[in-house]
Amino acid sequence: MSDLQLQVAPPDEDLFNGDGERNHCDWGETVCLETPTYVVVFNMAEGDAEAAKLCARHYALTLAKHVEVHTYSCERSVRDHFSFVGPIGNPQAL
Ligand SMILES: [Zn+2]
Ligand SMILES: [Zn+2]
Repeated sequence: MSDLQLQVAPPDEDLFNGDGERNHCDWGETVCLETPTYVVVFNMAEGDAEAAKLCARHYALTLAKHVEVHTYSCERSVRDHFSFVGPIGNPQAL
């Protein structure tokens, strides 16, 4: 047993981007450790923007939930809620 060595995993560069920020899915309802590949930029009521980076599944869920659920109870348009959606690096303005 003494010749067994503890294997130290090399740092996973996918977990962090340049400034040390965490880099996993921002889905808020459950912890999701998927690497985000899509971004949603929300228009906040005060005019501030807030971005969420999401995995493909939760990106689709975020948009679907908004369209299927939220728009029933909200008079504002989709464009009033999201300013950019799409793949990270190439989000589309709504
Ligand atoms: Zn996710
Ligand atoms: Zn709304």
